[in-house]
Amino acid sequence: MRLFTLCFSLCYCLLTQTALALEADKTLKIGGANIEVYFTPGVAEENYKLNRKQVIAWVDQSANAVTKYFKRFPVKTLRLSITDGARNRVNGTAYHGLEPLITINISPTFTEATLADDWVMVHEMVHLAFPPVHRRHQWLLEGLATYVEPIARVRSGLLSEEKAWEWIINGTPQGLPEFGNQGLDNTPTWGQKYWGGAIFFLVADMRIHQQTNNKLGIEHALRAIQKSGGSMQLEHNWEVEKALNIGDKATGTKVLMTLYQEMKDKAVITDLDKIWQDLGVSYNNNEVSYNDNAKLADLRHSLINQ
Ligand SMILES: [Zn+2]
Repeated sequence: MRLFTLCFSLCYCLLTQTALALEADKTLKIGGANIEVYFTPGVAEENYKLNRKQVIAWVDQSANAVTKYFKRFPVKTLRLSITDGARNRVNGTAYHGLEPLITINISPTFTEATLADDWVMVHEMVHLAFPPVHRRHQWLLEGLATYVEPIARVRSGLLSEEKAWEWIINGTPQGLPEFGNQGLDNTPTWGQKYWGGAIFFLVADMRIHQQTNNKLGIEHALRAIQKSGGSMQLEHNWEVEKALNIGDKATGTKVLMTLYQEMKDKAVITDLDKIWQDLGVSYNNNEVSYNDNAKLADLRHSLINQ
């Protein structure tokens, strides 16, 4: 079960020790972007169960999933460093800057099955599609990647719809506010950052669908933000309101700004059980089941597949 997400999206200037070779080992052209892949010497070579061709295929399918969701790859150039140092699962970090960088850690014990089950590569690439913001809003970045990653993988056939719901239904309770919570901007805990942020995007996605008769979703807002230059290709932070207003304009709603005002500085207890009931989806005895007679069953289908 993939409940414990942890990744980092950082300022490029914090990066001091990742030295990349002058030339990439492989450059992929996907979604209008050049994705330059750099391997640390020895990685995915003799001592590894994986070879470099298999790693490149994983990069390729992850980048294609992100391109399909956003209609283009979020930045023009990505430098992607594949290096050693992972333990049980893939680790990653995304850095913003004129040439954004993602570092990914793998391990000699990993196999193709490890990569097929991995969510970190797509998670880090989703980070590229939002501008850097002040660290008190980091929940927006992590919430976005946590919510969008499984949906992007379902839409590309990399994950089953049931696995995506399992991830969302099991993960979101960790984002509910605890005692002392002062809203998403003022409560920098792991649960608030990843899953509190994911709840924000789930609720926003549902409201956009409801207000547009299922014609538009959060992806339309996100594509507009990214098209307006809001990506990790920026060196300087954007004000959150700038990004959210662009998103709202694209959907013809006020969903993002309204929800931000609701959740930024006070605890909001989202009734998750009611959401699952309305959507007609449940997770019991290790199994996801659907109720197509639920009042928002069409919306559920649209959230995942639109
Ligand atoms: Zn992240």
